Amino acid sequence: MKAVCWHGVEDMRVDRVPDPEIINPRDAIVRITSTAICGSDLHLYGGKVPTMKKGDIMGHEFMGVVEEVGRGVSNLKAGDRVVVPFGIACGNCWYCRHDLWSLCDNSNPNAAMLEGIAGYGGSALFGYSHMYGGYAGGQAEYVRVPFADVGPLKVDQGIDDDKLLFLTDILPTGYQAAEQCGIRPGDTVAVWGCGPVGQFAIQSALLLGAERVIAIDRFPDRIAMARDVSGAEVINYETDTDDLVETLKQKTGGRGPDHVIDAVGMEAHGHDVLSQLEKGKQYLKLQLDRATALRQAIQACGKGGTVSIPGVYAGFIDKFPMGQAFGKGLTFKMGQTNTQKYLRPLYEHIVRGDIDPSRIITHRCALDDAPGMYKTFQEKQDDCIKVVLKP
Ligand SMILES: [Zn+2]
Ligand SMILES: [Zn+2]
Repeated sequence: MKAVCWHGVEDMRVDRVPDPEIINPRDAIVRITSTAICGSDLHLYGGKVPTMKKGDIMGHEFMGVVEEVGRGVSNLKAGDRVVVPFGIACGNCWYCRHDLWSLCDNSNPNAAMLEGIAGYGGSALFGYSHMYGGYAGGQAEYVRVPFADVGPLKVDQGIDDDKLLFLTDILPTGYQAAEQCGIRPGDTVAVWGCGPVGQFAIQSALLLGAERVIAIDRFPDRIAMARDVSGAEVINYETDTDDLVETLKQKTGGRGPDHVIDAVGMEAHGHDVLSQLEKGKQYLKLQLDRATALRQAIQACGKGGTVSIPGVYAGFIDKFPMGQAFGKGLTFKMGQTNTQKYLRPLYEHIVRGDIDPSRIITHRCALDDAPGMYKTFQEKQDDCIKVVLKP
């Protein structure tokens, strides 16, 4: 089959590789009908994630049709259309049974490798390095799905792939970010980053009853989408303000937003001295994360508010305003998404027409075009926000 394979820093290739096969009784083989490139794939593309090997198959956002199931899978059969969550989870461990699927203790055969590098053992992810399990991803014609009896959601034939595909990651990720704010009627939520997760965090916050969402970015196309598609008030932090934290306070009666969402993560962009310092430290490998967005979010957040972090962080952060967070009585919520928990409720929102996730797609192309699209997406050329590949 054809698959998008990692060959090194900024070197993706479409290779011919062997078709996947059932290995365990709880496996399914899925023929991919749609797959997407995720912002977090760019960390792999840029060589930021250790334990990648030449030839690793990329992709953790995919859906398709079941071709074959192992003898332990009784809820799916060949021909079923399924959406597959990006995190792999067993469904039986303490974490899975408590709906904390992203913390599954059984799915990652290389958990010890992750523990050695990151200090904790975590669940596996599709197509996301060997420390996250070394599972082949879904930017391919076929994929092996482990724990297929508990992960994939069976979906109706009548709804377009483009509307359902983002159930695999970015829609639940944006939704979880908004849900964990504990939004009350009348609340204002500020969202840093208008990439795909930011867009769905905005839409979810409004769905959950926020009165206002203020979105922050610097790219005009993303800001326009946040305003016109997702329904946020917007701030371009490069052209609309000299002091973002102060502007946010002014817009919220001096109190600051009730909740803040950092949908930027570890590769934040910024102009201040601290941002430049962090860039240097990151270059010298003294610090993994650049935390400009997170710092601003903590500083802007109103007293008693929630700091929700769907953006990915990987290491230690210096100059973290802990005193301010403590003094304002902030609540922090973060982590990988418990996708399995949100699949069905969000699917029902899509069926009812409450959310149309396909509106964020800017590029559709064939699997063969993936290497070029990685570059376009990385460099944010051509107003690229979300790429869908059709094998
Ligand atoms: Zn993703
Ligand atoms: Zn588990």
